Amino acid sequence: YKRIVLNSRPVADIEPTTFRTETLSLSDLKPGVGEVLVQITWLSLDPAMRGYIRDARSYLPPVQIGETMRAMGLGVVVQAGSQSKFSVGEQVTGAFGWTEFAVMKDKNVDKVTVPKGVQSIDFLNTLGTSGLTAYFGLRDICDLKPGDKMVVSGAAGSVGSIACQLGKRAGATVYAIAGSQDKCEWLEKEIGVDKAFNYKSPTFRQDFKEAGYIDVFFDNVGGDILDMVLTRLNKGARIALCGAISQYNATKPKGLQNYQTLISMRAKIHGFIILDYTKEFPAAIEEMARGLVDGSIKRKFHIVEGLEQAPVALPMLFSGGNTGKLVVKVSEE
Ligand code: NDP
Repeated sequence: YKRIVLNSRPVADIEPTTFRTETLSLSDLKPGVGEVLVQITWLSLDPAMRGYIRDARSYLPPVQIGETMRAMGLGVVVQAGSQSKFSVGEQVTGAFGWTEFAVMKDKNVDKVTVPKGVQSIDFLNTLGTSGLTAYFGLRDICDLKPGDKMVVSGAAGSVGSIACQLGKRAGATVYAIAGSQDKCEWLEKEIGVDKAFNYKSPTFRQDFKEAGYIDVFFDNVGGDILDMVLTRLNKGARIALCGAISQYNATKPKGLQNYQTLISMRAKIHGFIILDYTKEFPAAIEEMARGLVDGSIKRKFHIVEGLEQAPVALPMLFSGGNTGKLVVKVSEE
């Protein structure tokens, strides 16, 4: 079977030599321990992966050179050890990595039961890290009240498009920031934001003033966009630092020039990491699944076929090639 490992650490952008493919043979499951062999069906591609291959302190240890690239995925149990609580044929999720097969300890795998009206890949999107990040970020950091003006950056991506919809659902006026006219149209027509702004337009800064002063900023991008929004805060504004994708490839991340507005506007800026909310996942997944089933939450997938495409597809997150959730189809379900 094939797996893709970290070959070298990129200095800035991910390069063709950053990853390499290896072919291995399957080994037997260890007797007496709860283990399963999983055939991977889908893998999630996430901006956080740029962080995983950086040799720096973070919320997870860095992937080492020669290790399988870390990635969340979906798969099917094809072999279950004698002590395993799983059975062959069950659908599971876990951090399988960029591989066609993975031997996993039971404790590192969760069974996936796909409700009617929901697709299994929703568990890598609305019902997975992306959706839950939007859900808990909004609930715990944004302190959103009906009538608030909320801005979401990276709005046409996986987390962003869900944050926009949850913002609307909570009664906010939602402004989106994204990198193309097509994305802005999708956000306004499908996702239902009040207005979307293309940050690549030469008139963006001027156009954005149309949004007026804002109460909540759900930021996925950081850098210049965060700095600009700082100048547009209402008194008591809340900023949820979800991500800073504009800085992930930077050799020298950009400092903020306009942070003093936080003082004059008595505003709060607060980072958060979704891994701190695992205990609350089941209830949130149930609530979000209801939204998918009744059609009130919309989603879009950008599907790439074949494990070998993962290293070339990952940079798409940094060039804006995806709308909605970027996933790799590794094998048939
Ligand atoms: P997306 O699906 O949003 O893909 C990334 C998007 O970011 C691209 O499509 C691109 O869209 C935009 N982008 C890339 N580079 C830039 C740039 N230089 N300036 C502005 N926009 C840029 O990815 P996710 O939804 O998976 O992740 C969104 C954010 O959420 C990331 O920052 C990620 O790290 C963060 N995150 C945080 C978590 C947490 O626990 N705090 C958990 C999960 C994700 P465009 O065309 O608009 O430029």
